[in-house]
Amino acid sequence: MRKQLVEALRQRGISDDAVLAAIGAVPRHFFLDKAFEEHAYEDKPFPIGNKQTISQPFTVAYQSALLEIRPGDRVLEIGTGSGYQAAILAALGAQVFTVERQEMLFHKTQDLLARLKFKTIRCFFRDGMLGLPEHAPFNKIVVTAGAINVPESLLEQLAPMGILVIPVGKEEQQMMRIWRTERNTFKTESLDIFRFVPFLGGVERK
Ligand code: SAH
Repeated sequence: MRKQLVEALRQRGISDDAVLAAIGAVPRHFFLDKAFEEHAYEDKPFPIGNKQTISQPFTVAYQSALLEIRPGDRVLEIGTGSGYQAAILAALGAQVFTVERQEMLFHKTQDLLARLKFKTIRCFFRDGMLGLPEHAPFNKIVVTAGAINVPESLLEQLAPMGILVIPVGKEEQQMMRIWRTERNTFKTESLDIFRFVPFLGGVERK
């Protein structure tokens, strides 16, 4: 089923072999509620509780490809959710720092990733709007919720030549890829339209 998913993603235009290999290697059915388990390898998002969703595999593959992960990259993910995107980044060889604002989801996913022995993923219960200053700078930063604008703190925490991938917009979002250049300026590329759950400020305790 995983192989079929990889084929479907290739058909939809994902051509990055490392990303496709990671999708082929990570068991997505562990990241979904039991009720949706049999649908785990369909290219669809699903509810994961607390009004949140596990992103569609196409979206995960698309964002992962834009990040151009090199083994050893320090990668900050905002919006841990199910942990699936974090697992794909880890499978690509990244050292992952992932931040979630909902306490219940944070605990649930931190436990899951520990059980699945993802040793290169660290989970934080935090408002991702502020990034993770004590672990900055990051080679790559990815936001997996729809942002109204690009938080200054995330740009600041990007290493020179680093890449930020962030969907920006209210009802629907345009995927933006922002590079920090050698001369310390920022270069922005506007890409396709997606629909994410909202990027919200502050934390939510259980
Ligand atoms: N990457 C996830 C996608 C989850 S949906 C996955 O692979 O499953 C987006 C997640 O972003 C939700 O869990 C939501 O609670 C979280 N989120 C929204 N705003 C946030 C913020 N400011 N800081 C941290 N997490 C946030």
